Amino acid sequence: MTVSTITQLQDRVLAALEACGVPTPDGSGELLTRSPLTGEALVPLTRTTLAEAEDAVARAHEAFLEWRDVPAPERGRVVKRWGELLTEHKRDLAILVQAEAGKSMSEAEGEVQEMIDICDFAVGQSRMLYGKTMPSERPGHRLMETWHPLGVVGVISAFNFPVAVYSWNTALALVCGDTVVWKPSEMCALSALGAHQLLARAVAESGAPEDIHQLVLAGRDVGAILVEDPRVALVSATGSTRMGREIGPQVAQRFGRCLLELGGNNAAIVTPSADLDLALRGIVFAAAGTAGQRCTTMRRLIVHESVVDTLTERLVAAYRTLTIGDPRDESVLVGPLINEGSYRAMVDAIEAAVAQGGEVLVGGNRVLAAEMPDAYYMEPTIIRMPTQSEVVREETFAPILYVMTYSDLDEAITLHNDVPQGLSSAIFTTDQAEAEIFLSGAGSDCGIANVNIGTSGAEIGGAFGGEKETGGGRESGSDSWQTYMRRATNTINYSGQLPLAQGVKFL
Ligand code: NAD
Repeated sequence: MTVSTITQLQDRVLAALEACGVPTPDGSGELLTRSPLTGEALVPLTRTTLAEAEDAVARAHEAFLEWRDVPAPERGRVVKRWGELLTEHKRDLAILVQAEAGKSMSEAEGEVQEMIDICDFAVGQSRMLYGKTMPSERPGHRLMETWHPLGVVGVISAFNFPVAVYSWNTALALVCGDTVVWKPSEMCALSALGAHQLLARAVAESGAPEDIHQLVLAGRDVGAILVEDPRVALVSATGSTRMGREIGPQVAQRFGRCLLELGGNNAAIVTPSADLDLALRGIVFAAAGTAGQRCTTMRRLIVHESVVDTLTERLVAAYRTLTIGDPRDESVLVGPLINEGSYRAMVDAIEAAVAQGGEVLVGGNRVLAAEMPDAYYMEPTIIRMPTQSEVVREETFAPILYVMTYSDLDEAITLHNDVPQGLSSAIFTTDQAEAEIFLSGAGSDCGIANVNIGTSGAEIGGAFGGEKETGGGRESGSDSWQTYMRRATNTINYSGQLPLAQGVKFL
């Protein structure tokens, strides 16, 4: 276990910022990022004011009027260069992500790798903004769809993936001809500066309009500008369901477009035929990895009554081997919670679970409090629950895994779907029929449904997002690019006549 001093951390962060090309902050400013690794303040930054945020939207809008006319494959060149710079500075950006989000270096680098992957994807997509051609019902007519840039995209992002989710939005938005104003989590302003600076360099080197991307370092009050300004055509917001509930209706009120990526309460079903070795590894990574702070973290385990005792016994043994601590020590697997609020939420949830009949099988204690009183390291915990009670139905953003049992698959699927959220899901089985039922329309009601793999760790090639209180948005791969464009249906008449659709006669 390494308990490094803040000076070491500060130096590491300043060196990484400098490597990314960010001018050294002058040490003034009221926006303080606290590292969850030690709980101490990092480099202070200056907050963006309301007026500056309004100006950022205005500049992004002006830049859009130019950018939308640049051919899409040429727009792709900026994103290609961004991907190259991210590859070159993968470690630097990962250091910033680790300092602010508390991830292991492997996961922090994995986050930057996702950025690189989406850049590759978006560059390809820049040559594939396909529209369909449909047969017209009228002779001498052609019917087709064309896709056009949408406008300014306001990206609001969460602390737990401080740069990857931003890049999913930004890489696609830019090739689609949109411009971007980004409001990152106020807890991860330094990672944001690093990622933004690398994009600024790519933009400058590619000769694209300078203002196609803007960074707003502020809290939700200034974020409200993105929500309210009618020039922001799409608000892509990632965070809690509470946040989505606030901003969704506001954007709808002005008929803006919203892409919401909100909370999850992800479950896996383990059937009697499951390969328990494989299930064990999948569950431990998904439930305890990233200290339970992924939107796709596994929070519920629904296990057949015939295997529940064996599986929980093995899970408890595996949890006891997890190394917890400052993840700058590369042997550490479980890092800190983001802050005291998260720690309190975890403690409260454990208490509520016990009050609702739960039995704590392992974990749930705070560790390293004496060495680092301002950092919040918690043992991942497993709680056996008699029912899917109130606390199980809520997302607690911490490493708590609730275990419940079932006797037939219908019951398991009913239990699985009986929560307000609908992000990610999994079944562990070697019975093909069970897997197919889980993936069918009558099976999992989530946006992501997996077989023999945990709920977390998605690839960028698929569309990412979920249903119900998760918000219904889709980002990243597949046809998610369409959200960042507007569609026009075009009818071209080359018949020299004017037949009306549906055979209507007039004049
Ligand atoms: P949060 O909701 O507290 O904040 C997210 C972002 O929204 C921050 O930038 C915050 O400043 C901003 N914000 C909050 N209220 C706002 C408002 N009224 N107007 C404008 N901006 C506002 O979430 P968090 O604690 O940073 O992240 C954890 C949550 O995010 C969890 O619920 C997790 O499940 C969710 N999440 C979801 C996904 C997904 O893809 N579905 C991905 C990552 C995180």
